[in-house]
Amino acid sequence: MNSYAPAIEKLIKAFARFPSVGEKTATRMASHVISASREEAAHLARCLLDVKDEIRFCSECFNLAQGDLCEVCKNKEQRDVTTICVVEDPDSLVSIEESAAYKGLYHVLHGAISPLDGIGPDNIRISELLQRVAKGGVSEIIIATNPTVAGEATALLITNLLGNNGVKISRLALGIPLGADIRYSDRMTIGKSLEFRRKV
Ligand SMILES: [Zn+2]
Repeated sequence: MNSYAPAIEKLIKAFARFPSVGEKTATRMASHVISASREEAAHLARCLLDVKDEIRFCSECFNLAQGDLCEVCKNKEQRDVTTICVVEDPDSLVSIEESAAYKGLYHVLHGAISPLDGIGPDNIRISELLQRVAKGGVSEIIIATNPTVAGEATALLITNLLGNNGVKISRLALGIPLGADIRYSDRMTIGKSLEFRRKV
């Protein structure tokens, strides 16, 4: 690493902080930037800052949004507003959208409860979900948390909290293997899991 000019070494180190990017990939990415045009590099820098400056949480479902509402909540006329699919993170929402098997709304929890990691119900967006349901108009909740210990614990808690609201509650079923991550599941698997969701 010491043989790189300081600015290059800094860029490699910055890329190496990205998830699943090792030093070799980071070095290739830095080489790409060095050989790219100044405009391309400026575009990349702008994209990074735009995301930091303009992206926030949707005021309704807590998906990532540019402005007050996310792309799903902006298109409510074309969605089934009586159904809410609960996911752990925005990437899971995108995967379910890509399955094209679901036309309702979402609620992004931003995590799952995991007492050993110090993540309790108050650390994720569960109370906001309860408030949405309490407002009325929701007839079904599909819990699409990951089939992990934390995801299952979260699903159970939500089921208990919403149990007596007269809302139908279902959980993603067949398809997604235990321990897997919805973010990295293929469309077919997600589509089947939605189709065969079970009542809880
Ligand atoms: Zn939204």
